[in-house]
Amino acid sequence: GSVVDLKENANQDGLKTVQEIDEMRLLARERYLKDREILKLQVLEQELALQEEEALARGWDNCSQAEREEIMVKRELVALVQDRKIQDEDNGFRLPSDYVDEEGRIDSDRKKQLLRTKEAPRSGKNHIQQRLWEDQQLKNAVQASGQTDEIHVEGSENYDFVFDEEAMVEFTAEDEDSALPDTQSGYDEKLAKELDREHERLQTIQDTRKSLPVYKFRSSLIEAIREHQVLIVVGETGSGKTTQLPQYLVEEGFTQDGKFQIACTQPRRVAATSVAARVADEMNVILGREVGYSIRFDDKTTPDTTILKYLTDGMLLREFMTDPELNKYACIIIDEAHERTLSTDVLLGLLKDILPHRKDLKLIISSATMNAAKFADFFYNAPIFNVPGRRFPVDIHYTLQPEANYLNAAVTTIFQIHTTQPLPGDILVFLTGQEEIEAAQQSLEEIAHVLGSKIKPLIIAPIYANLPQDQQSKIFEPTPKNCRKVVLATNIAETSLTINGIKYVIDPGFVKENSYVPSTGMSQLLTVPCSRASVDQRAGRAGRVGPGKCFRIFTKWSYFHELELLPKPEILRTNLSQVVLLLMSLGVTDLLDFPLLDKPGIPALSKALENIYTLGALNSKGAITRLGRMMCEFPCEPEFGKVLHTAATHDACKGCLEEAVTIVAMLHETASLFVHSKSDRDQNKSGIIGKVSSDHMLYLETYNSWRDMNYSRSWCIDHKVQYKTLLRVRNIRDQLWRCCDTLGLVALNEQAAKVINSSDRIEHRIIKSFISGFPTNIAKLGTSGYQTMGARQGGVNVSVHPTSTIFQSLRKDMAKPPKYLLYQRLVLTSKEFMRDCLPIPREDWLHEIVPHYFSSAG
Ligand code: ADP
Ligand code: MG
Repeated sequence: GSVVDLKENANQDGLKTVQEIDEMRLLARERYLKDREILKLQVLEQELALQEEEALARGWDNCSQAEREEIMVKRELVALVQDRKIQDEDNGFRLPSDYVDEEGRIDSDRKKQLLRTKEAPRSGKNHIQQRLWEDQQLKNAVQASGQTDEIHVEGSENYDFVFDEEAMVEFTAEDEDSALPDTQSGYDEKLAKELDREHERLQTIQDTRKSLPVYKFRSSLIEAIREHQVLIVVGETGSGKTTQLPQYLVEEGFTQDGKFQIACTQPRRVAATSVAARVADEMNVILGREVGYSIRFDDKTTPDTTILKYLTDGMLLREFMTDPELNKYACIIIDEAHERTLSTDVLLGLLKDILPHRKDLKLIISSATMNAAKFADFFYNAPIFNVPGRRFPVDIHYTLQPEANYLNAAVTTIFQIHTTQPLPGDILVFLTGQEEIEAAQQSLEEIAHVLGSKIKPLIIAPIYANLPQDQQSKIFEPTPKNCRKVVLATNIAETSLTINGIKYVIDPGFVKENSYVPSTGMSQLLTVPCSRASVDQRAGRAGRVGPGKCFRIFTKWSYFHELELLPKPEILRTNLSQVVLLLMSLGVTDLLDFPLLDKPGIPALSKALENIYTLGALNSKGAITRLGRMMCEFPCEPEFGKVLHTAATHDACKGCLEEAVTIVAMLHETASLFVHSKSDRDQNKSGIIGKVSSDHMLYLETYNSWRDMNYSRSWCIDHKVQYKTLLRVRNIRDQLWRCCDTLGLVALNEQAAKVINSSDRIEHRIIKSFISGFPTNIAKLGTSGYQTMGARQGGVNVSVHPTSTIFQSLRKDMAKPPKYLLYQRLVLTSKEFMRDCLPIPREDWLHEIVPHYFSSAG
């Protein structure tokens, strides 16, 4: 009766009808049938084998004509199916009509031919394989001798056996499933079971969808969206805003049969990919077709097919460059708007600009409970739609004294919870980044190992931005009975991802935040205390399934007296160069007038203008140059765009574009390049390290060695380099290269490469290219070590990071430290460290490459 119920409910509640679901399932069914066909073939083969064995035991000549004929027909059938010359009809395989006479027997001409070629059945246990082999031999022989003895079925040349991995049905690994049914009835049973299971799964998904808080408000939400151009939707995390709202819009026909798309932005890459996967599953479509995602360097959408796209806010921002009015979209959902990332803030400004020209465009701003009024204000009092969430009480515990080492404290707390609190009840721990998460995971595993069977099993599931996609789903897998899951997450789990089953939250109260000081031009990732709004959000994660507990590893006093109320929007604490350049390329001339929720200060804006002027993106009148536009075209920071432009065109550099592209691509993935532990870093480079003089050259050599080994996986294992990371680098590299090609840089580079003076060492040209892109990231060796340059009020002391090749060669060889060092990033831990360093052997290169900058800054 469940099918009928679902059908009857469908129209009232507006969810998909069973027919609609079935339509979506058509594709899945096709795949299923293909698999079914393989099963049927196997059944047929087994039947045939039995008969052949029996006939052999009795002797071929003692068999009746009918028996022999039956075997013959079956053999022929099997062979034809194996060659995919015939396909399954519902009640089994049939020989083609020109093959058989009226009674379904092979017609006499064919029979004679068959009897000639295959006289007696073969013996032996492995007869199917043997026969396959023999058939193959026969075929080869026939082909070789040029005879056309082959059976021809009309249209057979149109069949091609394509092994489509994507279209495979995934069977569960349980034994009962992998066992092959011996009989037709066994097969039917299996088929029925599969269909039941699929039906149940769909039903569960539909039931889950209906149980989400947002579901009760479906029709009023749709009504509000139809009525207003801009709607602010506010609701607890987990109420269904991200996964359901876009589906409702699709179901309500906002895409006009695929003429328009729906975009839903996410501040984080992980959220975009994982939510897209979930929604594709809920809609029962293949990820990347109807539902897709688009994040930098990874686009999983299909033009003309994709109607719902989850993408990072930065990606939508870039779409303004090609489609300034976003004409292909019917609805834009700015999700997680409360996060106030730089891209989200700028997007809101640009959208505010185009709304009057795109009357039919719907804008939905979705946010956790904080900040809603501010968004409403910004969009001329747009209505706020509140989705009341369910939330259970959460007990908050504070530490009595401040903890010096919150990581240790967190690990201890995990075991306290695990040993004293009942199961089920998973734990969510908020840490600041990959390194911390890996450290925590390691010590958890060590302690759990020591405790062994004294404790119930712990399942440790990390989640952070750079975690490979295939490992992300672990956090969503249901926890087995008698186990406890510990999710180690960055603040991605604060609002963007909802993990079911969490009862305990451990919150040290820190977050990694970008911080930029315009006066020094220095940008750093700092670990800073969270805002009160954030820690309250985090605590809320414990109260979704039932009453929960939150353990804060800071004091109550600190909560009330030290924490800021709200997080500081990114636009007020980051380098604005890239965004300013983008806005200028979009024709925004008056930056002060551009609508923003929070306006950055004049110093930050003028520093940004100064930076892009230094790069040559602006002319002396303050207008964007051709080079500036080119830099925007690259899907990376303008500084890298400049490096690539220089590498292809500058007289002192050109001809090294390939190498520069490789290094730039590698620099995007350094975080997960080498296999974990720090001590390994020394070894992994063993083959390469002796030869290189900088991190940049190390990256280049690493990539090139891998490429020369035919992109081999085993090379990566031998050299302790992460294979998957290199695959990503290769993809990034390809995209950057294509971009260079479109911009004409490849052609220019090739021209240059022909006439290049080979005495100009490639390494020097690379260094010069990087100087042109990062003139503000150079440190000079003074009496007290390295100091940053370029700041008018004097530099800041910085040191070479221990993971840098420079650090190691200085230590090992006692070599003289280079006077100038270009760095890609500064990180502040115990002190200010430079990561990814490139020595500059000669001071005059600075003046040669960026004279306008170094003549004034000295
Ligand atoms: P919101 O955006 O309002 O925070 P979501 O739409 O993200 O809410 O989540 C709605 C529900 O979908 C949650 O209960 C969550 O547990 C579930 N969900 C989301 N992603 C997944 C996933 N990958 N696997 C299983 N459940 C998921
Ligand atoms: Mg959400």
